[in-house]
Amino acid sequence: MSSECIFCKILSRKLPARIIFDDDRAIAFDDINPQAPVHVLVIPKKHISTTLDLSQEDNVLIGHLFQVANRIAVEKNIAERGFRLIMNTNPEAGQSVYHIHLHLLGGRAMLWPPG
Ligand code: 5GP
Ligand code: ZN
Repeated sequence: MSSECIFCKILSRKLPARIIFDDDRAIAFDDINPQAPVHVLVIPKKHISTTLDLSQEDNVLIGHLFQVANRIAVEKNIAERGFRLIMNTNPEAGQSVYHIHLHLLGGRAMLWPPG
């Protein structure tokens, strides 16, 4: 828990969000500025600033974030069509919130390479 972190505030319900999944280790909610018809953020309840701060003890937690994202993709009927899972690390990748989050993007064709 980091008192200045907006995603920790969403976790503690001090900031509103459309939360679509919640368990003992993670939550998922709609991105406030969606870049695709489906744009969900899956975050751990543990405050971790960037992927560079992951330790070996977080390995199962990271796998869990992917399991949650897959489940949501199936529920939203984008699994077969395809979707993208992204974690941005540090400024040049466009990280703006320093609490790791897995972007689940889908519902439209994605471009490659990304911008
Ligand atoms: P990043 O740029 O760090 O990879 O992704 C941060 C994401 O969080 C952005 O897509 C941004 O739209 C989203 N975001 C930032 N603040 C809020 C907020 O208060 N609520 C929600 N639901 N999403 C947010
Ligand atoms: Zn946080």
